[in-house]
Amino acid sequence: MNKTDVLVIGAGMTGLMAAEALRRQGVSVRVVDKGRGVGGRMATRRLDGAVFDHGAQFFTAEDDRFLAWVEAWQKEGVVAGWGHGFVGENGHHRLNRHRRYVGRDGMTTVPKRLARDLDVRLSMPITALIRRGGQWVATSRDGDAFQARGLMVTCPVPQAIALIRTVPDHDVDFLRRLEQVVYEPCLVLLTSLDGPSGLPEPGGLRLRNRVLAWLGDNHAKGISPRRHAVTIQADPRFSQAHYDAPSEAVIREIRDVAQPLLAARILSAQLKKWRYAEVADGWDAPYANGPSREAPMVLAGDAFGGPCVEGAALSGLTAAEWMAGALG
Ligand SMILES: Cc1cc2nc3c(=O)[nH]c(=O)nc-3n(C[C@H](O)[C@H](O)[C@H](O)COP(=O)(O)OP(=O)(O)OC[C@H]3O[C@@H](n4cnc5c(N)ncnc54)[C@H](O)[C@@H]3O)c2cc1C
Repeated sequence: MNKTDVLVIGAGMTGLMAAEALRRQGVSVRVVDKGRGVGGRMATRRLDGAVFDHGAQFFTAEDDRFLAWVEAWQKEGVVAGWGHGFVGENGHHRLNRHRRYVGRDGMTTVPKRLARDLDVRLSMPITALIRRGGQWVATSRDGDAFQARGLMVTCPVPQAIALIRTVPDHDVDFLRRLEQVVYEPCLVLLTSLDGPSGLPEPGGLRLRNRVLAWLGDNHAKGISPRRHAVTIQADPRFSQAHYDAPSEAVIREIRDVAQPLLAARILSAQLKKWRYAEVADGWDAPYANGPSREAPMVLAGDAFGGPCVEGAALSGLTAAEWMAGALG
């Protein structure tokens, strides 16, 4: 049995920030994730020489607690600035004093840096949780078991609910309240172009039409130096309505609406689907903890800290503080 003080389920921004904060306090911590890489919705994909951020496109660091981490990463060359805002559909720049940041080689650069000093087990989908003798035991689909006194669950809330339902004496009222959290899906088209996109500086365009929400130029961002690569995000309502529609029809519709907005021809397009993309209705506190002090459990994520990378990071940090206190 793999045993640590704390087990963190989910190696996205929330889980990795929490785990690294606990590790720095001397707590033994392990992170497990069902994916083949770290980062969750901080995701970067390579396709035929083109590089795409296909989840989060950039992030803010308005809170001083997160800004301190981001400034350290900037000194190390892990993150870079990407302007102070983007042009909207009316042609106006929506600038503010807050800088937007990106991972130097794509958004996954940040979670990879966080995971560097952590014990992370990938391809490890947790399917069952039990509490036994003041300890949590989490079991993966293939039967790997992880034991810890403290448990942090950082997957999107519907996936967290499915996990907590496997705990034999779970709190039904708590799950009912968690069911109020709502996420919107997002359909994303990863497109390679035959020349510069022509998108306004610094390389992004926000839209609010029937089909599209965002176009982001990965070449202008600096992560796809060899190929012109644009990430196109569909509008949340369009994504919801077309989530299960045949891919070819969805690709054609998004492509037809996006092409006139670009200065170069779309050569290829690949569809990516996020079922739990952005939080539409979140929890009203930065984390949610279970009642037991003996075997503490805490839920954290962007549904708790705010619907963005920074919100996820802050939720992870705050939940880690709670966990350290609960372990005593
Ligand atoms: C298309 C898109 C665009 C976005 N754009 C932006 C943006 O521009 N700026 C911004 O700030 N935010 C943006 N966001 C939101 C941002 O990506 C998220 O708020 C943030 O990354 C959430 O981090 P997290 O760690 O809470 O969750 P996640 O990144 O979802 O991490 C959860 C992890 O849990 C793992 N997991 C789930 N179930 C299990 C299980 N049973 N066992 C083991 N592991 C499990 C998953 O594999 C995943 O790695 C965007 C999101 C999407 C999808």
